[in-house]
Formats: sequence, C-alpha cells, structure tokens
Amino acid sequence: MDYEAFFASHLRRLHDEGRYRVFAELERVAGAFPRARFHQDGTVRDVTVWCSNDYLAMGQHPVVIEAMQAAIGAQGSGAGGTRNISGTNTLHVALERELAKLHDKDAALVFTSGYVANETTLQTLGAMLPGCELYSDAFNHASMIAGIRHSGAVRKIFRHNDLAHLEELLKVADPATPKIVAFESVYSMDGDISPIEEICDLAHRYGALAYLDEVHAVGMYGARGAGVAERDGALGKVDIVQGTLAKAFGVVGGYIASTAATVDFVRSCGSGFIFSTSMPPAIAGAALASIRHVTAHPELRVRHQERAATLKRKLAAAGLPIMPSVTHIVPVFVGDAALAKQATDLLMERHSIYVQPINYPTVPRGTERLRLTPTPLHSDDHMERLVEALQDIWQTLGLSLRAAAE
Ligand code: PMP
Repeated sequence: MDYEAFFASHLRRLHDEGRYRVFAELERVAGAFPRARFHQDGTVRDVTVWCSNDYLAMGQHPVVIEAMQAAIGAQGSGAGGTRNISGTNTLHVALERELAKLHDKDAALVFTSGYVANETTLQTLGAMLPGCELYSDAFNHASMIAGIRHSGAVRKIFRHNDLAHLEELLKVADPATPKIVAFESVYSMDGDISPIEEICDLAHRYGALAYLDEVHAVGMYGARGAGVAERDGALGKVDIVQGTLAKAFGVVGGYIASTAATVDFVRSCGSGFIFSTSMPPAIAGAALASIRHVTAHPELRVRHQERAATLKRKLAAAGLPIMPSVTHIVPVFVGDAALAKQATDLLMERHSIYVQPINYPTVPRGTERLRLTPTPLHSDDHMERLVEALQDIWQTLGLSLRAAAE
C-alpha cells in the first residue's frame, strides 16, 4: 500500500469539506484572560478567547498558580512512576479524598485525563462484569464510546435523553444480566441537561448501575459545585460519577467517585490506570487548591451563569441564531462546515476574536456551529464587541439571522 498517498488523500478530503483541524497557537498570559496572544505564520496578535473550556478562568487564578508553583518547588516535576510503583504522592491521595467528599462518595480515583477516566472505567467494568450490557446515550462523548467499544460488552444506544426509549431497551433485557447506563449531565455541544434523577431511577428499576459524566458541570452547578446531580438533589442516586480537573478547575486530569468497592475494583483492574505514569504532584496540588477555592466560592457560579445569560440576551437581541441551551454553553448555528470555518477565520482576521468552528463528527452534519463559552471574566465590553463582530461576519457571508428558530 502507498501509505503516504492514503494519508494525503484523506487529509485532502478533510480540507475540501472544511473539516481539517488547524491548531490555533495560543500563548496564554497569566492574569490576562480572556485576552491571549495568537501566533500565526511568524506574527503575533492580542486576541479575545471565546472558546475556552477554562470555564471559570481558574487556570489563571493566583490560588491555583501559587499551589502549582509551591508543589513544583517542594516536590519537583514528574510523579516518578505509575501509581502502584512509586507514583502515588501525598497530593494524589489528598486530591482523591477531596473529590470523594465533593461528590458525597466513599472514594475517588484520579486519572491523567477525563478521557482516560471514562475509557478505562467503562472498558474495565464492561469487560469484567460477566455478560455486561452497556446502555449509552446517543450523544455521549467519544471517551465513553471508546470505553464501551473496547470493553467488548453488548452496546445499546438510546436516543438522546429519551427515557421511554431507554426503558424500551431495558425492559427486554434479562433481569439477571449486569448493566450500566452511561450518560452525561451537561451535553457540551448543545448545552442541554439530562434528567439525572429519572435516568438513575430507571436504571435502578432494571438493576443497572448509573454512570454519569459531569465533565461540563463540576465546579459550575450545585451549591458546592459538585455538578448537576448536586443541584438536582440526586448525588445519592448516581452510582459512579466521572469528572475532569481540566475545565472548571482549570488544570488537567480526570476522575471517578463511587463506592469504596467500585473504586477499588477499577483501581485494581483498569489498564489505563495501572499501566500509566500518574499525574505530576504539582498538577494534583493545583487541582486540589482549585477545587477548594471553587467549592467555597458559590459567587463564581452565580457570576458565570449571569455572564452566560447576558451573552445569550445580547446575541438574541442582535438576531443571531443562538441554539437553545439551558447552560453556560452558547452555540450559534451556522449549518455548514465551510461557512463555519470562514466565519471563525474572519472573526480572527477582522476582529481579533478567537472561536473554533465545531464540525462533524463532533456534531451531526448540517448542524455545524460556533460554540461560545463565556466565563466570569468576559465583560459586557467583550460581549458587545463579539456581537458586533458576528453581525459583520453574518452579513459578509450572507448567513441568515435567527436560522435556528426557523
Ligand atoms: N467527557 C466529556 C463529555 C468531554 O467533553 C470531555 C472532553 N472535552 C471528556 C469527557 C474528556 O475530558 P478531558 O478533557 O479531561 O480528557
């Protein structure tokens, strides 16, 4: 086979469809968020970032920066091994205790990313529970899909947030078979929320474990920031909660929290946990400081929601086609990959605004969009500039206003 020709032709097709992913090379400037420096072809310009998942800007917060610096100063850079072989640090243990407390669970387990947490946990449970069936929401994240596939377990996909469809599937299953229902709380591309309590109740009625990904909710919802399950009073109903340290907490890493036996089982049997070097102690220290800060400052969550509501109001008033979202995620409908790419290129060229287009396979074809993520640090002025820029670009590209509502 001509490997080079194969790779080149595939990449050309991505280019032709406007789906080729170009990295925006950013230089973050501590203390300046949402401003950053954008590097391209040897030039540098100051831009406003509107697509960061550093949702609460904790990645720039002095408390987090100081904790990371202090831990590096005290303990150095790398962890020195896998968790089983010299890589379990006092800060990993403290972080896991904090996460268990946050989610009202017995125990927690930290992974090097949220992706690895999902992939490893679902792969391990699906493969080791005899005859396990995995029920997966149709919009689940790629990391859950990967874990489910790699487990080799029977996979059943229920229509997004469709309780009736989930029940239809569970009803015909053998009651004795182990089952897991895997779903998310906040869906990251549409900004909608699942009925956590109802899904958990349904799962339990049919003898299944409820596995909830709160990656886009931890830190941001609930009185202490434990996620939508906390907000909805459903913490006790979720059997296994999964989250990230990379978004609202502004660092990197992922975790699960659950019963002591569940966590111990994944710790003892999960390849992605056992055979990989643990996260640097300084990352664990920074994440710990971030969680403690975010948990103790509910006003951050209030401000975050207020900023999102204000942005939605300003976009709607300008006739821009925002898609329905009940969360901090603000998708603006374009409906075409090439146009979405052109729109974001123009936002950068003309207005020094950085937004990344969202294309297939992240979202279905024909629903390509711009995904805006306001943070507590986006001011009214940032928002007004963004709205004006979008109006300019919508006019240039002949995009329709209020397309999403049509
Ligand atoms: N779950 C969901 C729903 C996600 O959107 C993501 C990443 N964007 C992950 C898991 C993976 O988390 P991480 O970025 O920490 O690997």
